[in-house]
Amino acid sequence: MTARVGIVGAGPVGVVAAIACARKGMRVTLFEAEREIDHSPRAATTHPSTLEMLAELGLLEEFQSLGLVARHFQFWDGATKTLVAEFDHEMLRDETPYPFVVQAEQHKLCALGLRRLSAMPDVEVRLGTSVADVAQDAKGALVTTESTEQYLFDYVIGCDGGRSTVRKCLDVAFEGYTWPERFLVLTTLFDFQSALGCCPRSYISDPEEWTNLFKVTGDDLKGRWRAVFPARQNESDEQAFSDAAVCRRLGRLSDGHLIELVVHRNIYRVHQRVAKSFRKGRVFLAGDAAHVNNPVGGLGLNCGVHDAMELAETLHQVASGQAGEDLLDRYERRRRPLNIEYVQEQTVANKKRLEERDPKVRQAHFDELRRTAADPVLHSRFLRRTSLIESVRRAREIA
Ligand SMILES: Cc1cc2nc3c(=O)[nH]c(=O)nc-3n(C[C@H](O)[C@H](O)[C@H](O)COP(=O)(O)OP(=O)(O)OC[C@H]3O[C@@H](n4cnc5c(N)ncnc54)[C@H](O)[C@@H]3O)c2cc1C
Repeated sequence: MTARVGIVGAGPVGVVAAIACARKGMRVTLFEAEREIDHSPRAATTHPSTLEMLAELGLLEEFQSLGLVARHFQFWDGATKTLVAEFDHEMLRDETPYPFVVQAEQHKLCALGLRRLSAMPDVEVRLGTSVADVAQDAKGALVTTESTEQYLFDYVIGCDGGRSTVRKCLDVAFEGYTWPERFLVLTTLFDFQSALGCCPRSYISDPEEWTNLFKVTGDDLKGRWRAVFPARQNESDEQAFSDAAVCRRLGRLSDGHLIELVVHRNIYRVHQRVAKSFRKGRVFLAGDAAHVNNPVGGLGLNCGVHDAMELAETLHQVASGQAGEDLLDRYERRRRPLNIEYVQEQTVANKKRLEERDPKVRQAHFDELRRTAADPVLHSRFLRRTSLIESVRRAREIA
């Protein structure tokens, strides 16, 4: 019998989960609370391991055409404006067909995915439909929308983001902590690459104020830069968004260039949290509903897409009778520890490396980065970890 799968949330993870499940012959209903895709600046880096998955779903070519290919990433010492180390994905040429990242805004993946879903059989996308409750018994999982419509599924996947209603319905704890400082994102048309010589993914360590600087294409494909900064303690939205504060931050970063072309200002709270459980019975959590992290390293969305692919394959094996129901537990056995080891640990270490204030510790970080970049074996190992290639391989080892 064809399995019926309800997916809550049409963010990037929900859309990928829907396509992956539909391609495996499941009947999919995708619920999205909003009537339109959220275009606010969020994740933008898609790593080689995730590109392989998008290729498997037939999405890569179009996705890549909407973004820019970034082969390198760099670490800079912001205090002296000097390059510390550069990493080159080409070192992974023998390990992946895609030795680069694609910098493309996450709403482009959602839009592309929704277009594909609209042409797939046995798929229903319900925009503007907020899910209010999920309950389950031996017969199935029952989804109730805010307008009290009810739908019965064999399985439900909660891809409804960090504040997940599905996770709350399951009464699953979201363990971890919230960083005291908020993150400020400024998007500008100023071209940092021409002015400063940095590459489209640059991490700038600075004891006074670190920056995660990267280029995206924008909807017009003309290119723009996003700079992520820590907001100061007690800095209000108005203060952070004021022209004076924006000019100070971007001016300091750009060596005094006057940056007037700011196209977007955003500020948000950042958490490191992992759901205590990724599955209860017929209901699963994936993406930000299961785990959230700071954006330094660009790992959250990538890990969510990996969840979606793992879950689609697991449900397919069980629904098609190739495996028994006990395989469903493997999803959590694989995805939860790998998120902690590869996403939580790396993003916390990345943030600490950028914000370190102790000169000796800063110097030790820089020395280690230089040593790693200079040694081909260490360089490749480092990239296998940052690109999540290693975590995909580790997943296969967990029975
Ligand atoms: C402001 C901000 C900036 C970020 N910046 C970065 C970054 O620079 N780099 C990075 O790697 N990551 C970043 N992230 C994290 C990244 O955006 C997420 O990891 C990614 O969006 C996860 O995708 P998702 O599909 O799991 O969840 P989401 O993208 O949050 O999608 C969840 C979807 O579920 C829908 N939904 C919610 N509740 C319901 C309901 N009850 N019923 C139906 N639908 C529902 C929502 O409307 C939404 O469309 C950022 C996150 C935020 C909030």
